[in-house]
Amino acid sequence: MSDEERRIARAKLPEGLRPETLAVRTALAPSQHGENSEALFLTSAYVQPDAQTSAERFAASEDFTYSRTSNPTVRSLEARLAAMEGTEAAVATASGMGAILLLCMGLLKAGDHVVCSRSVFGSTINLFAKEFGKFGVETTFVSQTDLQEWRDAIKPTTKLFFAETPTNPLTEVCDIGALADIAHAAGALLVVDNTYSTPCLQRPTEFGADLIMHSATKYMDGQGRVMAGALCGPSRIIKDVFGPVVRTAGMVLSPFNAWVVLKGLETLSLRMRAQSEQALAVASWLEARPEVARVHYPSLASHPQHELAMRQQSGQGGAVLSFELHGATPEAARAAAFHVIDSTRVLSIATNLGDTKSIITHPATTSHGRLSEEQRRAAGISQGLIRLSVGLEHVDDITDDLLRGLSTLLKN
Ligand SMILES: *Cc1c(COP(=O)(O)O)cnc(C)c1O
Repeated sequence: MSDEERRIARAKLPEGLRPETLAVRTALAPSQHGENSEALFLTSAYVQPDAQTSAERFAASEDFTYSRTSNPTVRSLEARLAAMEGTEAAVATASGMGAILLLCMGLLKAGDHVVCSRSVFGSTINLFAKEFGKFGVETTFVSQTDLQEWRDAIKPTTKLFFAETPTNPLTEVCDIGALADIAHAAGALLVVDNTYSTPCLQRPTEFGADLIMHSATKYMDGQGRVMAGALCGPSRIIKDVFGPVVRTAGMVLSPFNAWVVLKGLETLSLRMRAQSEQALAVASWLEARPEVARVHYPSLASHPQHELAMRQQSGQGGAVLSFELHGATPEAARAAAFHVIDSTRVLSIATNLGDTKSIITHPATTSHGRLSEEQRRAAGISQGLIRLSVGLEHVDDITDDLLRGLSTLLKN
């Protein structure tokens, strides 16, 4: 054993470890103190031993000089994320939207074209259509599930396909492998927003996706504390293309947030499994209620892409579901939804997901509130729709909380 190896116990992991182990163990080597939990390096700059070393480190930009360039806690998170997604590399960003901003800045220029599902996260649509539209990037929005629409949207300038699966709040699932084939035949890259499933349920590059995007604000943190995002993929894109952009543009992740997410990843596989099981129990319970017109959840046999979802998502549905209440008119359906939401005493009325605390949301007046009624109808967001992000409370307390409102709905 060398002095270095003796000083830092078990700094190097053996090959072939399983994902659950990598999620707990992958990080930079500990400091000279041998801390068992990864250290939080809250520092903006790094002292250099001498001017020559300083010059070399600045030239290489791999060593630590300044935290916009790199930080050990952030580097540990990036290594752990890449190990979990099975990609060569990862780059962490200040938020999920920061990751998509980095993606666009790194890969697109004026005149380029993007094909994107119309069911993706609302801010993603705004970022492509509005913000990057200003810089001459054109985006065509297509059906989440109709592959022919993706094929028909391709232009000679198409550089990127962007998909999210399953989507929010209707849990629509797209076929990652089929989209990858279509993108690659057109010389474009496929990027998948994997926020909902996380690598514990779905690893998009195994189906042919080129890059993976995350809002780590959701399940990766897992307790609703910090904002964070990431892109995962091959080193030649992550390190060579995105590296210089993130260092220059500065949408870097704070070390504190990186540390919170790094710790969150250690329990991610347990939480995803437990929250998925709870969500399935709640979805099945809702499906049997007479007040409920329809439940959207990938693990239910009634879900239109049930088989595809189970194949792509390790047989699990994830922890987000939505359901629709009956209503003779949109106003009546909205009143019923508000009644159920306002009758809860345990669930949080909020617009977030991926927390251990269950969250209840009315999409038509919050996340999709800015759309016209017609756009909302086209997107399938009815006034009677309620979204649930299922957490870790006892499942009977979740269904009891929903029953408070459901059982007292006025018949209409
Ligand atoms: C929340 C979310 C985002 C945006 O991430 P932020 O961390 O809020 O910036 C992107 N995609 C999906 C699917 C999300 O749920």
